[in-house]
Amino acid sequence: MLNIAIDGPVGAGKSTIADEVASRLGILHLDTGAMYRAVGLAVLQHSIDLQDEEAVTALCKQSQVDVRYENGSQVTLLDGQDVTGLIRSQEVGTAASAVSRYAGVRRLLVQRQQELAKTQPMLLDGRDIGTVVLPNAPVKIYLTATPEARAMRRLKQLQEKGDTADFAEVLAEVNARDEQDMNRAVDPLRQAEDAIVVDSSDLTFEETVQAILRLTEAANA
Ligand code: C5P
Repeated sequence: MLNIAIDGPVGAGKSTIADEVASRLGILHLDTGAMYRAVGLAVLQHSIDLQDEEAVTALCKQSQVDVRYENGSQVTLLDGQDVTGLIRSQEVGTAASAVSRYAGVRRLLVQRQQELAKTQPMLLDGRDIGTVVLPNAPVKIYLTATPEARAMRRLKQLQEKGDTADFAEVLAEVNARDEQDMNRAVDPLRQAEDAIVVDSSDLTFEETVQAILRLTEAANA
């Protein structure tokens, strides 16, 4: 099965790059962060304390987080509702990072991701794809960039959506998210031993896409 694993920190461009690489390869892209975001959204909607591991895990068990594809694009569903747009706020991102610390939440979502990846060739992006979800993936990429480069991209994305934020604020959020993602006890973000690092700090979007396509070709040669 041609499964491609892309991991990396927040703001490295994983989602957009992964979307483009998958579409050029003619395979589907599973954005696993969207699933953690859907759980984060559910927790906010139910006004559950993000620090309450038991309540968060129980809610995750009751909630139906799913994905569907429309014209090749992922639609993320929470209890049957399309939440694709709702999960993109900073608030939901922070909630996602908080709920993703919990082993029970991870177990449920990892299992679902593995089921999806079994059905067809897919490109998965996240934090633990090469290490936990698909440890045998034939292609593993660790896509990263400096915190400053990532914060600058994040700021642009937020501004395009009309959100007001400033650079220092976004950089602080990027650093806080790195700290939380890399230091959590369960499945922290780390580079798989057999992953290849792509640093996109000084690469354009197209150069990054090309670098990953080359690595994919090399792995399949
Ligand atoms: O990639 P994205 O920023 O949308 O992910 C939201 C949060 O979900 C991340 O900060 C991370 O904590 C968590 N996540 C995870 N494992 C994944 C994907 C995302 O822990 N495979």
